Amino acid sequence: PLVLGIETSCDETGIGIVRGRTLLSNTIASSMDEHARYGGVVPEVAARAHLEALQPSIEAALAESGVALADVDAVAVTSGPGLAGALMVGVGAAKALAVSLEKPLYAVNHLVGHIAADILQAGAATSTADDDGALEYPTVALLVSGGHTSLLLVRDLTTDVELLGETMDDAAGEAFDKVARLLGLPYPGGPEIDRAAVDGDPKAIAFPRGLSRASDMAEHRYDFSFSGLKTAVARWVEQRQAAGEPVPVADVAASFREAVVDVLVTKALAACRDYDVPRLLLGGGVIANRRLRDTALERGAAAGVTVRIPPLSLCTDNGAMIAALASELIMSGREPSTLAFGADSTLPVTEIQVAESS
Ligand code: ATP
Ligand code: MG
Ligand code: FE
Repeated sequence: PLVLGIETSCDETGIGIVRGRTLLSNTIASSMDEHARYGGVVPEVAARAHLEALQPSIEAALAESGVALADVDAVAVTSGPGLAGALMVGVGAAKALAVSLEKPLYAVNHLVGHIAADILQAGAATSTADDDGALEYPTVALLVSGGHTSLLLVRDLTTDVELLGETMDDAAGEAFDKVARLLGLPYPGGPEIDRAAVDGDPKAIAFPRGLSRASDMAEHRYDFSFSGLKTAVARWVEQRQAAGEPVPVADVAASFREAVVDVLVTKALAACRDYDVPRLLLGGGVIANRRLRDTALERGAAAGVTVRIPPLSLCTDNGAMIAALASELIMSGREPSTLAFGADSTLPVTEIQVAESS
């Protein structure tokens, strides 16, 4: 099926067009620059930016793929989780489009969309050379972005996604952004910390690995916590400043990054081992982090786990992954959604599609 997907859950307006499992276009407009001066995403600003970007983005995606709107078989949209106002703009637009085109509408889960991104990827980095590029089940998926840090067990993308664990406080990307801010680096902090860390020693400072003690591992084996780490970095920097000593930004950045990467990869591979699943899929904007990619690939290979990393344009929020998920649902015979759904900012990952008609 030819599917047009709309993604507006956070600050990216994403329009993607796929045919079956083939990516035709993936247009992304970000309002990141508008949020930068506030040091984080401002929901109202994001919602308005989506409203302005949607129409031109749809036109750009159609032009790029050489597809006419009338040829589209189905419309797909993220109904949650995400920012309520931002989601509402996409949901409204998708409904309007589907009704006016008289085409079926699929309302899908953003987090599962991140997993579906893998289906579209060609030439992704993996830890084994003989990988044929197809997503195999079951797979463990680690999603790390500005809003999420989730560890999932995917038995079937269209029917069975289990939440193994998630962050108890800050998302990993959020931690990067907050630590960057206290080091005086601009927003978004992830790329800045990555750059600053290049000249740093990852072993310079032993920052805490959240929820990794034996007692935590019993109850929170697959959960994450980054607020303690952020506080530890803040305290370390303050002590330096109080002593009148310069802050070694490169060492702090490298040591902080190492703490985040270590705990993410350790817990993801623990899940692979526990469930006897030799596959790990990575997704979300934090995957841009070189150290995270390299560590996952290295430690995965050592553990006999194939690590799959879609290209970054499919890892960050985008419409193609939403279209891909709907395409999978259609190919597995699922009915479209009714118009009864709305934006659900806290949609659980187990709800792959909402308002399926029967
Ligand atoms: P959502 O959580 O809904 O997926 P988001 O917009 O918050 O949406 P993304 O756009 O996927 O998330 O990713 C943005 C986050 O990724 C920011 O927190 C940013 O700091 C972080 N990030 C980007 N590049 C890097 C990097 N090289 N290292 C670490 N973090 C990074
Ligand atoms: Mg974003
Ligand atoms: Fe996302």
